[in-house]
Amino acid sequence: MTRELSARWAVQPQGVVRRGFAVTATIYAAGPLGGATVKISGVADCLFCGIAGGEIPATRVLESPRTIAFQDINPQAPVHILVIPKRHHQNLAEVAEAGDGLLDEIAAQAALVASNSGVAETGYRVVFNTGDDGGQAVHHVHAHVLGGRSMGWPPG
Ligand code: AMP
Ligand code: ZN
Repeated sequence: MTRELSARWAVQPQGVVRRGFAVTATIYAAGPLGGATVKISGVADCLFCGIAGGEIPATRVLESPRTIAFQDINPQAPVHILVIPKRHHQNLAEVAEAGDGLLDEIAAQAALVASNSGVAETGYRVVFNTGDDGGQAVHHVHAHVLGGRSMGWPPG
């Protein structure tokens, strides 16, 4: 569908942002039946881009201009919520490197999620699993917010 649109109608280059292999594009198309806007967001085959874009269902609990928070599908504690940026960044280093306040926004949302979930007083853990040794399975940066039980240290 997208390829078909691109071939038949001009794509406005100012609508396209490329960052690494991540592509976010808004295509403004004018065809014989009038105007249409097609939005393509995120990275193909990225689960969390799919959730951010609404193509994959998730139980959302909070949203800010550049982030969303949703329930982890396989909770490891009574409270287990993931906070992700809507735009694809692979890991903590990449989102920190962007240097545009996004990491602050993720941290602030993680704290708000903890507060809204009633664990701010009892305590909670915020984790960015990073890379293979860190146990990162989904390569779209996400903060785990875990709470509602006492946690051991060191982590497994
Ligand atoms: P990580 O191992 O740090 O990459 O964490 C990935 C997390 O994503 C895991 O805790 C999974 O349970 C969680 N997860 C995977 N698929 C989904 C999904 N469809 N909706 C919500 N959480 C998910
Ligand atoms: Zn992604």
